[in-house]
Amino acid sequence: MPSQTQDTALEALEPTSVWRFFAGIAATPRPSKHEEQIRAHMRRTAEAHGLTVREDAAGNMVIEVPASPGCEQAPTTILQGHFDMVPEKDAQTAHDFERDPIRPVVDTEPQTGRRFVRAQGTTLGADNGIGLALALAAATDPEVRHGPLELLFTVDEEAGMTGAKALAPDFFRGRRLLNLDSEEDDALYIGCAGGCDTTLTWNFRLRPPGQRRAAARVTVNGLRGGHSGGDIHENRGNANKILARTLLRAPRNLRLAEISGGSKRNVIPREASAVVCAPQATLAALGTSAPQVRAEVLAESDETQLQIKIDTLPDGVPAALSPADTRRLLTTLLAVPHGVLGMHPKMPGLVQTSNNLATVSSQRAEDGSSLKVVVGMLARSSLRSLLHLTRDQILGIGRLAGAQTDTGNEYPGWEPNPDSPTLAVCRRVYRDLFGSEPRVAAIHAGVECGIINERAGGNLDAVSFGPTITGAHSPDERVYVDSVAKCWRFLKAVLAELAKT
Ligand SMILES: [Zn+2]
Repeated sequence: MPSQTQDTALEALEPTSVWRFFAGIAATPRPSKHEEQIRAHMRRTAEAHGLTVREDAAGNMVIEVPASPGCEQAPTTILQGHFDMVPEKDAQTAHDFERDPIRPVVDTEPQTGRRFVRAQGTTLGADNGIGLALALAAATDPEVRHGPLELLFTVDEEAGMTGAKALAPDFFRGRRLLNLDSEEDDALYIGCAGGCDTTLTWNFRLRPPGQRRAAARVTVNGLRGGHSGGDIHENRGNANKILARTLLRAPRNLRLAEISGGSKRNVIPREASAVVCAPQATLAALGTSAPQVRAEVLAESDETQLQIKIDTLPDGVPAALSPADTRRLLTTLLAVPHGVLGMHPKMPGLVQTSNNLATVSSQRAEDGSSLKVVVGMLARSSLRSLLHLTRDQILGIGRLAGAQTDTGNEYPGWEPNPDSPTLAVCRRVYRDLFGSEPRVAAIHAGVECGIINERAGGNLDAVSFGPTITGAHSPDERVYVDSVAKCWRFLKAVLAELAKT
């Protein structure tokens, strides 16, 4: 019952065609890796409009849209977005993302009077459902003038971009691409970072703690964390770095028994902890230096909630690394780079290269003879050469420190091309329609354009834009109604302009 009234509410919004398509998409379950239902829905929708649909083994789809009469000679333009959405819900909301339709609600912001659409207790999936709806509306509205179009929809963008990675180079023909997966309606995105994982692994010998050893747990927490791409320029504290820095202030007879920190490769670590053993005097020294390290970090960053706690462990520890191995590991954590490594020379304010010292974990061997320590990092750069340089720097530090080194999960960046012809068209159209300059930006995180460009042999001319969405990937996700209308006007005008060239 409620979903029907709300669908009606959506369909009352302008532009009608976009919201009608969005209502159908929102009613179709589509969490990442479960795109069967949305694929079937889109296939039926396209075929109902007489359009040809192609799919690949991964589940990616191309919908072929013939040119408007008289525009057949224009080069093919790809309109691109992703099928899947991030399934997040409030604790109090019951929702099965593989079965239940999203329940959209049209709401008004009290402060601004701006109307927006959100969902009842879940992510809305405007990321990227509104992009799919815009593409379908452009393809099926006879008023829209366009050259030949390919609507390229990928699976699994939100959980690893495996759909884009699986694209065959000949699955699409177009070399001009409009990606509809950005979230600020005054910006044109023209670049992103690529990335790769690096991993350092040691198997350290464990030895008994010896006589008169005291033990303690050292915990670092209260940091802001954040996304290792989008937030890396804010110089937020890294719990793994702060832990290593604290422990290295202690006298050299400190011995590590276990260590862990961080949660995911793409998250700046907020918490880390270690269990150490040492003579009582060493732990006392640590108790003095920890507040000093804390004061330094507070002065260096805008972290205000940082805590460094030392809790005595009265039972001690059964075994620990040698002081030399302890030092070797902690020094490595200090030596590997974290944060911004370089800014883009031509895009003011854009981070070009960075690394996140993301995770540290330790596991004792079953027989208690050794401790396996694994350090995980994620490097990013819009330029492949700089990504590889950063990777090799980290692996080099690892080798010098006696670690086994590993790298993988590399995906390509999308190097900004300020001279892109498609960008020039988008800029001109934006200026003509809205009387102001769009922001031209790039992001220091991965987007599908980088991968699709690689699949296209590196000569894709792409621009990304979309209506304003806030709170994406959370139940607070909103898309603004006037912004969807703005984006629709812009898309129509850009397609008409591209149909001339
Ligand atoms: Zn998205």
